Amino acid sequence: MPISDYIVTIGLEVHCQIKSNSKMFCACATSFGEEPNSNVCPVCLGLPGALPVLNQYAIEQTILAGMMIDCTTPEVSKWDRKNYFYPDMPKNFQLTQFDLPLCIGGGVPLYDLAYPKEVQKSIPNPGKTVKVTRIHLEEDVAKSTHHANNTTIDFNRAGTPLMEIVSDPDIDTPEEAFAYLKSLQQILIYGGISDADMEKGQMRCDVNVSLRPHGQQELGEKIELKNLNSISAVRASLHHEIHRQAEELDAGIPQIQSTRRWDAAMGETQMMRTKEDAHDYRYFPEPDLLPIRTASLIEKMRPQVPELPHEKRQRFEENFGINAYDAGVLTSDQSLANYFEKAATDPKLGKKVANWITNGVLAKLNENNTSILDCPLPASHILELVQLVDAGTISNNQAREVFAALWENPDQQPAAVAKAMGFEPADTSTIEGIVDTVIAANPDKVAEIQAGNDKLLNFLTGQVMKASQGKANPKMVTDTLRGKILS
Ligand code: ZN
Ligand code: MN
Repeated sequence: MPISDYIVTIGLEVHCQIKSNSKMFCACATSFGEEPNSNVCPVCLGLPGALPVLNQYAIEQTILAGMMIDCTTPEVSKWDRKNYFYPDMPKNFQLTQFDLPLCIGGGVPLYDLAYPKEVQKSIPNPGKTVKVTRIHLEEDVAKSTHHANNTTIDFNRAGTPLMEIVSDPDIDTPEEAFAYLKSLQQILIYGGISDADMEKGQMRCDVNVSLRPHGQQELGEKIELKNLNSISAVRASLHHEIHRQAEELDAGIPQIQSTRRWDAAMGETQMMRTKEDAHDYRYFPEPDLLPIRTASLIEKMRPQVPELPHEKRQRFEENFGINAYDAGVLTSDQSLANYFEKAATDPKLGKKVANWITNGVLAKLNENNTSILDCPLPASHILELVQLVDAGTISNNQAREVFAALWENPDQQPAAVAKAMGFEPADTSTIEGIVDTVIAANPDKVAEIQAGNDKLLNFLTGQVMKASQGKANPKMVTDTLRGKILS
């Protein structure tokens, strides 16, 4: 039977490193790219007898993340040991939270522009919010690298504060999973909680997916996907896995709860292990750490909740009169939104400034494969350019040329560049002379204009522009023509 005859259920577990200078339970630095095993101490090496000390900043940032997605924080939150035997954590347990995590409930609103580009126009469930089960805080483990004949291990990462954000099985399609991760990433970046860069391993994602026929209440057997190191990989692996499960179910092969790994090169998922060898983590309360009373932390963090992406988008629409799409583009990246606000100090010009940024600036950045953070043009140049056009000093087309020149020489001022390119308003007498010549040379057109064919003014404007070698200001030319012909 076709895939559409199955209900797909997807849940995501996202691990996200908190941007903190020190580790979760010791004072070691979290800096990336250091000599292996240089940022370590007895605590994060898991040596016997070493005692953990809480990183209050990481706790606060987790509570903040929860506030940004409408979670609640229980009055008391506690720490637990998750026992397992693996060299990436020599004390043989991970310090985490089991039954009383820092954040419970909440949801991530899916932004239209967070969906893959080609489906943005046909989002099946626009405005959806994906429910979140919980966010808990734990320590990252060491990074092992497998070589041909041995494995090396680096403890610099061990003990990095790690948030685990668990969604409800509330996601229906691979595209929704994609949008969820993008939206979540955007929120965490807005909060300054994490850079959430999947390529750098700051954000990692495990996927659970199951299929069941329409009409069946209970969820199908869930398959977990691992080794997903980009948001696109999550989407691609889900597409493959949904097809694979549907085909097997069609063929009468029941699914068994298992873990599979995504092989990006092969474009397929491969079986790693089944439920029989699933871990029993034997969680138990951490005896070396007291539970946290959260009331004062909640009070401290509440005022620090920043404007959320969708709130900013709405404000841009209302304050600057820009449309929802452009507001979405500008707020998709916090740095871009900041750039826009720096340029749009005059709300009346906000719409025009938005146009210059979404078309001019973003096109150039794309061309050069850079981000707004590396944009050579100061935001004030955009405002000045818009002001020059608005005042009728230069035309839109001329502004485009000035923009291109400024991009190469951002140290110069827009007005000076316009002048150097000869785009300053020529003195009136020169233009009047050309206008007179053009009028004299086109008596038939002039007659038609006088008879009411206003469109021909553009034609004559073009003639004057040509005669002035593009230096005249078209608005001024049209005005002069209109004055001479129609008065
Ligand atoms: Zn340490
Ligand atoms: Mn975890």
